[in-house]
Amino acid sequence: MKRTSRDIRTANRYEVLRQIIAESPTSRQELAAATGLSLATVATLVGELLDLGMLTEVGFEDSAGGRPRGLVAVNASGGALIGVDIAETYVRVELFDLALNVLARADEDMRPGESRPVQVVGHVATAVGSVVAQAGVEGARVLGVGVSVPGQVDRATGIAEYAPNWDWHDVPLLDLLAEHISYPLYLDNPLRACAVAELWFGAARGRGNAVVVNLGTGVGAGLAFGGGLHRGVSNSAGEWGHTTLVLDGRLCHCGNHGCVETYVGAPGIMQNLRELSPRSPLHHPEDQTATIDALARGVAAQDPVAVKVVRDTARYLGAGIADLVNLLNPEVVVLSSWVAAALGEPLLEEVREAVARHALKRPLAATEIVLSPIPTDPVCLGAATFALEGALSSVTQKSNQRPNRRTWSRQ
Ligand SMILES: [Zn+2]
Repeated sequence: MKRTSRDIRTANRYEVLRQIIAESPTSRQELAAATGLSLATVATLVGELLDLGMLTEVGFEDSAGGRPRGLVAVNASGGALIGVDIAETYVRVELFDLALNVLARADEDMRPGESRPVQVVGHVATAVGSVVAQAGVEGARVLGVGVSVPGQVDRATGIAEYAPNWDWHDVPLLDLLAEHISYPLYLDNPLRACAVAELWFGAARGRGNAVVVNLGTGVGAGLAFGGGLHRGVSNSAGEWGHTTLVLDGRLCHCGNHGCVETYVGAPGIMQNLRELSPRSPLHHPEDQTATIDALARGVAAQDPVAVKVVRDTARYLGAGIADLVNLLNPEVVVLSSWVAAALGEPLLEEVREAVARHALKRPLAATEIVLSPIPTDPVCLGAATFALEGALSSVTQKSNQRPNRRTWSRQ
């Protein structure tokens, strides 16, 4: 696809707004320095964002004897964004103001087997209705809803092409959601959402090359090169969870054997536990969250089985992450999502040791491995930024009087 001048204008506007959201208040001069855009371009873009009510002027700062510089900040009440994290075991929805502060949150648990598209859509619709009501925002102020769903997605058509853990094939998810949700909808997956959340607010801020390892029921790697997301040619880069770790190993939902995910995703960790200690009370069959939480408590209490399971898991994870380090030479590897959050520092320490055993010295020396520092759900946050990007793209189109594109005509 060719990048048009409109795409570039949207991208520049998004970049300027992103800088302001990450650090407010700021001056046009600082924005030009941070984005590499000319001061004139920044001034134009800031003017447009002020006209849209997304920014506000907040005074002046002295500039060492020169003319005082006008400061702008994000206008937090200038709109609301919704981020949806559809995971295998839950749906979480958060409503954000324009500064990306969480104003409301709703959680829906999904029981095992409750994964038909119509059931998932029902949970999302309920939770979206709930956050809008809780936050008391008028519907007209909701600029969009970013939806993250596991697996391969086609952003342009809104189709969830393949979700191996649910055996979803070509589910027209955005069309199904649009029957219940009247706001503009934008679809992507958790790898992209977590990576963008880290780039804006987390451990990858100010670092161009980052790998965000997503550890949940499914597993994958969000990739950022040169400060931007790397999507690959068909938006499926980072499917590291389905790379082969063990030849002829465990059967994966994707049909392959020995995928990384089958050893370090939540069900894989449960199997690591079962193989080590088949009757362990740490094991809660059919309940991934309860088992991972029990392991975390077990490690804190120095339970030898729990310690060994986390160590075994970290060995698999370390070998897989060392591949990413050798292949991509990132500045930072971030462990994200709910399994990483639950197992925390003990997992991180074991992973660091395991990676050091497998990775080459030079890329290893340049890489820091950290836990995600984002205190809220990074997937919701990242998904909300997709809605923001979509909203900026649609205002560019409106101001250009171009025909509506499908992604934003759904209102
Ligand atoms: Zn697989």
